[in-house]
Amino acid sequence: MAVNKILLYYVFTPLADPEAIRLWQRDLCRSLGLTGRILISEHGINGTVGGDLEACKKYARITREYPGFKKMEFKWSEGTGNDFPKLSVKVRKEIVAFGAADELKVDADGVIGGGVHLKPEEVNALVASRPDAVFFDGRNAMEAQIGKFKDAIVPDVRTTHDFIQEIESGKYDDLKDKPVITYCTGGIRCEILSSLMKNRGFKEVYQIDGGIVRYGEKYGNKGLWQGSLYVFDKRMHMEFGDDENYTQLGHCVNCGQDTNKFEHCINEDNCRDLVLMCADCYANPATRHCGKPECVEVARAAAAADTQAHTSA
Ligand SMILES: [Zn+2]
Ligand SMILES: [Zn+2]
Repeated sequence: MAVNKILLYYVFTPLADPEAIRLWQRDLCRSLGLTGRILISEHGINGTVGGDLEACKKYARITREYPGFKKMEFKWSEGTGNDFPKLSVKVRKEIVAFGAADELKVDADGVIGGGVHLKPEEVNALVASRPDAVFFDGRNAMEAQIGKFKDAIVPDVRTTHDFIQEIESGKYDDLKDKPVITYCTGGIRCEILSSLMKNRGFKEVYQIDGGIVRYGEKYGNKGLWQGSLYVFDKRMHMEFGDDENYTQLGHCVNCGQDTNKFEHCINEDNCRDLVLMCADCYANPATRHCGKPECVEVARAAAAADTQAHTSA
C-alpha cells in the first residue's frame, strides 16, 4: 500500500522574485504529483503539501537546494493521499495575512525583531521561574475552543487580520511588562505576531520554536498544553495521545456533549462559521446550526421540510 505524508513548512527570507519561485514550485509539485497550498511573498514561503512518501522526500530535498530555503524545516505527518483536493501555488503580499506587509522586515536569518525563540523545555523552565509569564494565543479564537496552553489569553480574533487592532486596543496593556509567550500551530503566525507586539511596546515577548506541534511532540498531554490541536486539513483536529492526562475542552454548541469536531452551520450560503458539533446534532437538520437566530431559523425550516418529505413519501 502506498504511504502518504503531509509536509508543513515555512521560512522567512527575502525573495527578490516571488513569481519565479511560484513557477518553479508549481512545476515541481505537478511533476511529483503533490497537492496542497503554497503561498509565496517577498518575505518567504509557507506551504502544506501532501502525497506519496517518496515524492514528498524528493520535494523537500529539491526545495532545500534554493539558497534561501536551505534552512527550511519540514514537519512531517501522516496523510491519507487525498488530504488536499488540488494544488494551489500563489504569490501574495503576505504569506500570512496580518495586514502588515509593509511593517514586516526580514533578512536571511528570518524576521527582524521578533520574539525570542524558546524550545519546548525552555517554555516550561520560563513558566516555572517566572510566575507572571502568560501564554498568548496567536491563532484564531475558534481554534482555542478545543485546545490551548494552560491559562492562556485567547484574543478575540476571527482571522489574523484582526490581531493588530486587538493588540492596539489597550485590552492587553497590562502584559507589556510581563513575559508573554506567543504560540500558534507550527510557529509561523508567531514569527509575525511577536514582532508586531514588540513594535507596540510589549517588552518581553517569546515564541515557541516549532509551535504547538513541536511542544506536543515533546510533552504529549503531560506538559502545559491542554486538549486537541486544530489543524488545517481534512482531519480538522489532532491529539497528542489518548492517555488519562488528556483534557477534553471541546463541547457541542447545541447539546454540550464532548466533541472536537468543527462543522459548517446548516446556513452555509450566509454563514461561514465553523462550530463544534457532535455527530448527533450534525446528523439532524434541526440542530445543525451555529446558534445565531437567523441560522436557527434556517435549521427549523430545513427540519420541517425534512419531516414533510418523510411523511408524504
Ligand atoms: Zn450535540
Ligand atoms: Zn450559522
